[in-house]
Amino acid sequence: GWARIRGRLREEVGEVEYRTWLRQMTLAGIEGEDAVILLPTRFLRDWVNSHYGDRLRVLWHAEEPSVRRIDIRVSATPVAEPALAGVEERPQAEAAGQPAGLAEPLAPRLEPRSTPESRSDWVVPLEARFTFDTFVVGKPNEFAHACARRVSEKPASPGFNPLFLYGGVGLGKTHLMHATAWAIRAHDPQRTVAYMSAEKFMYRFIAALRSQNTMEFKETLRAVDVLMIDDLQFLIGKDNTQEEFFHTFNALVDQGKQIIVSSDKSPSDLAGIEDRLRTRLGCGMVADIHATTYELRLSILQAKAAAAQVLVPPKVLELLANKITANVRELEGALNRLVAHANLFGRPITIDGAHEVLHDVLRAHEKRVSIEEIQRKVADHYNIRLTDMSSARRARNVARPRQVAMYLAKQLTQRSLPEIGRRFGNRDHTTVMHAVSRVAELMAADAGFAEDVTLLRKMLET
Ligand code: ADP
Ligand code: MG
Repeated sequence: GWARIRGRLREEVGEVEYRTWLRQMTLAGIEGEDAVILLPTRFLRDWVNSHYGDRLRVLWHAEEPSVRRIDIRVSATPVAEPALAGVEERPQAEAAGQPAGLAEPLAPRLEPRSTPESRSDWVVPLEARFTFDTFVVGKPNEFAHACARRVSEKPASPGFNPLFLYGGVGLGKTHLMHATAWAIRAHDPQRTVAYMSAEKFMYRFIAALRSQNTMEFKETLRAVDVLMIDDLQFLIGKDNTQEEFFHTFNALVDQGKQIIVSSDKSPSDLAGIEDRLRTRLGCGMVADIHATTYELRLSILQAKAAAAQVLVPPKVLELLANKITANVRELEGALNRLVAHANLFGRPITIDGAHEVLHDVLRAHEKRVSIEEIQRKVADHYNIRLTDMSSARRARNVARPRQVAMYLAKQLTQRSLPEIGRRFGNRDHTTVMHAVSRVAELMAADAGFAEDVTLLRKMLET
């Protein structure tokens, strides 16, 4: 039963996915209607549960109709490797026949080797959706993408080792690295690809130092074919870890192994990373991912909406692409929220709905205009002095622009009426209120004036 279920799953998901996630499953037994499956870590359990739980249940039920649920648990004590279990019994057996004092030096305690738990922990699992298929290419990232593709097809080719990817937060560095790892593994499953953040690298290194296991740390790392270190900027100021990474780096490159590193800064801007390491990091291929353009943001949204199989009106995608500009992760988050909302309430996504659901997000991304900026632009436009915004002069040619500035301050900032008054030469909030309604009246009555104010507003908003 179990062997057949595993076989089926293996066929369905493919070798790479199977090895990454499912190989370590063991069957603990059947408890009532539950098939109890064990995995060595919480992370694996959660992953398998959310990604393969349903499929496992269906396969089990087909195989064994009494099974209706799958219960995936973390195996309390990771099973030691068989060879090791045998060895560890020996000292006791020998000690039994010998005087206690002699036993110890003759039978030195063996260093505990890594358990399955620590090994699966060692190489961070790859995110299933970070593949080349799901990566949308546009002007800002096409070079980095081409380099990653190239490295995935021919690791360690001259000129591309190391590959150094850099760019701002949420622009796709991690996505590209995982995509490269997936592609390398798919192309040649025998290749070992190790991916981890620089932070993880450091903690592994410290743990190795503590348990006096640095040999194993070094050997494990130096045995991989491809090493990927994400967010290298984490090592700034961490001199010992940098030193260790430098040696690992050299050993791997000398053996013709590929290294891929990502960072939020270019090698030359990584102040706080030792010079010799920076030099080596920069001597392969350095590729930057630029800030997204409106076109790229729109294509990413279209791709994600299509993948989620939901209908999102173009106007809504345009709104998001316009407003959420800094970070693809946030863009994605906003779209996900709309989709979740639509699913939850069974309503189609509309532009009004989008404004409502994303109220807070859109507001946070609105351009912030300061009162000072408004005063400057308005004074400029009407050709008066900036100081007249706060002066007591009441001449029409000064008073009217001041009112316009107050009106715009009310419209474009979150400031309260008293606060606005204070910034306009300590005027009363009723003066501001009067200015706001006066300008609105004039706009309704005088098209030329209205056009003026609208133009000013546009200038301030963009
Ligand atoms: P970084 O590592 O540079 O901070 P990530 O790789 O984690 O950024 O990307 C953040 C999110 O944005 C991820 O969910 C990723 O899939 C998505 N993303 C970024 N760039 C793209 C792109 N060009 N196409 C599709 N998704 C993207
Ligand atoms: Mg990242």
